[in-house]
Amino acid sequence: MEKNRYDLIVIGGGPGGYSAAIAAAKEGLSVLLFEGGAIGGTCLNEGCIPAKYLLDKAAALEKVRALTDKEIFREPGMFSFKKIQKGREEVIKKLTGGVAYLLKANGVRVIHSFASLTEAGKAECEGQVYEAEDIIIATGSKSMSIPIPGAEYTINSTQALALERVPRRLVIIGGGVIGMELASAYCSYGSEVTVLEAMPELFPAEDERMIAYLKKELVKRGIRICTGCKVKVIEKAGQSRRVFFEGEKPEELYGDTVILAAGRKAVYQGIDVKKLGLALTGKKEIRVDEHMQTSVPHIYAIGDAIGGYQLAHAAYAEGEAAIAHIVGKEEMPLPGKRSGVPVMPRCIYTMPPYGATGLTLSEAEDKGIDAVRGEFSYSGNGMALAEGATGLVQVVMDRESERTIGVQIVGEGAPELLAFAALSVKEGMTVKEWQRLIVAHPSLSEMIKEAALDCFGKSVHGAVR
Ligand SMILES: Cc1cc2nc3c(=O)[nH]c(=O)nc-3n(C[C@H](O)[C@H](O)[C@H](O)COP(=O)(O)OP(=O)(O)OC[C@H]3O[C@@H](n4cnc5c(N)ncnc54)[C@H](O)[C@@H]3O)c2cc1C
Repeated sequence: MEKNRYDLIVIGGGPGGYSAAIAAAKEGLSVLLFEGGAIGGTCLNEGCIPAKYLLDKAAALEKVRALTDKEIFREPGMFSFKKIQKGREEVIKKLTGGVAYLLKANGVRVIHSFASLTEAGKAECEGQVYEAEDIIIATGSKSMSIPIPGAEYTINSTQALALERVPRRLVIIGGGVIGMELASAYCSYGSEVTVLEAMPELFPAEDERMIAYLKKELVKRGIRICTGCKVKVIEKAGQSRRVFFEGEKPEELYGDTVILAAGRKAVYQGIDVKKLGLALTGKKEIRVDEHMQTSVPHIYAIGDAIGGYQLAHAAYAEGEAAIAHIVGKEEMPLPGKRSGVPVMPRCIYTMPPYGATGLTLSEAEDKGIDAVRGEFSYSGNGMALAEGATGLVQVVMDRESERTIGVQIVGEGAPELLAFAALSVKEGMTVKEWQRLIVAHPSLSEMIKEAALDCFGKSVHGAVR
């Protein structure tokens, strides 16, 4: 007979929940995990991974096209979207199977059903009560809908990732990370893409200069980006959709598919917030402290359900912080979200991608830091030229301490380069330390060093300014 008393119950098996469950088991806790949907949550099933699968194949296609344009390759890239979608499903299966294996191998009991929580220390599922000293809520988020007349004629990001055919004309409402990633992928597959974004600019929280550069590159690739454009009505027009929107003047356009990518909001299905007395933020996310403790003792919350950076790696870090607190380990400061050291890597997997960590120049200035910026163009880097990659690297340093406080990259490899960049921000690398660091040649990483040195006019390969 299965027991029903555990050290820890985790509700939700997305990146936050499954990683916290495994980390707790490795600390010797007995752990029960409830997952009502699919193990791996949004990230593995309908988020990060499937989106990156589609983007990777799109990037390969772009590379082939670029080489064909140069007459290095003889045949233009022909592809089977059906096979691409099959490949996406296979990768999801492989990864979710891997996580299920890890949970089992670490002795985590998984119940594949929705749980409800109305009382601290007790979760209920299918008429059974399960008890635990501590509970972690990791129930995630869902696509936000906005009250536009005709919103029922749109599809969400989950449906957009699983389309059977490439739409000829694609309209995307929302120029956030998810909207722009889908725009990038489908543009490469041949859709005529228009993005309608209500804000005056894309990604207002990121570096203005670098985002302007990114936007120019995306427009160059053929994506129509309308900022400051509010969608008023969507109508069915035969097999297509007619979208009425207003920017400087009222306009309309047709799409075979309209994706609504207006952001995501925290969900806590089955969690009786009122009865438990859980405090919420103004955005109706679960409020937590730096240890991920909610307002109710022994109930923790992590991941998208608490808002902030709605990123899988933020959810992992929050899970680790919660487990460290539960097992009474030395306090584990969270990178970024609440510690005041904003190293949280932030990626937009567009083509080209954007990656940032630490402070932007304007954030540094708002904090009263006398900041200095350095840059290095992909056009001056041997590896970038060999790969046919274009882009720009920017490093922000504190003029007084000569320490690295931020890095922003637009260009191929940005998400991978970010690990190295985040470390330099976390450690606050000085210009002297950058000079002493030997970076492999040729590599894209060289550009981060050059941009850092450029802050103080010491870049060897950079343009003379
Ligand atoms: C298209 C797209 C692309 C993305 N790309 C990236 C990316 O490149 N990088 C990145 O870092 N992030 C990305 N994200 C965001 C990322 O997916 C989320 O930040 C991450 O999945 C959050 O993890 P989580 O564990 O908090 O929640 P989720 O992954 O949402 O998991 C929550 C789980 O809890 C389960 N659940 C809910 N309530 C209950 C209950 N009562 N009982 C049992 N189970 C329950 C749900 O079924 C779900 O499986 C992307 C998201 C989308 C939509």
